[in-house]
Amino acid sequence: MKAARRRLILDIVATDATFERTEIRGQAAWVGKCIHCLSHVVVGLDGEPIQRATIEHIVPRVHGGTDALDNVALACGRCNALKGMRLDVRRRDDPKLTAVIERLKERKVSRLRRAGP
Ligand SMILES: [Zn+2]
Repeated sequence: MKAARRRLILDIVATDATFERTEIRGQAAWVGKCIHCLSHVVVGLDGEPIQRATIEHIVPRVHGGTDALDNVALACGRCNALKGMRLDVRRRDDPKLTAVIERLKERKVSRLRRAGP
C-alpha cells in the first residue's frame, strides 16, 4: 500500500477512540472497530491493513468526498464494498444515502479521540 494511504490510515487510527494498541501473533498492531458493523479491524503500526481494514469515505468520492480526516473512517472490507454497491451509486440527494452519511458523520464524531489526558 502506498505511503500516503498508510499515513491516512494512521491519522484515522490516532483520532478514533475505538483503536487500541495490541499484539497479534507477536506483532504490535492497532485494533479498532469498523465504522459500520463494529467488527474488529486491525492495522499494523506502519498503517498497513492486517485484517479487513479499508478506508471508508463517508461522503463517497463519486459525490466529491475527499480524504479530509472528517470524511474518512476505517471499515471492514465487506461493509465498505456493500456501501459502495448499494448506496454510493445512488444520487447524492437520495434519502437512503443521505441518512447513512448523516449517521456515519455522527458516529465518527462520537468516536473522536479527545486530545490530551
Ligand atoms: Zn463492517
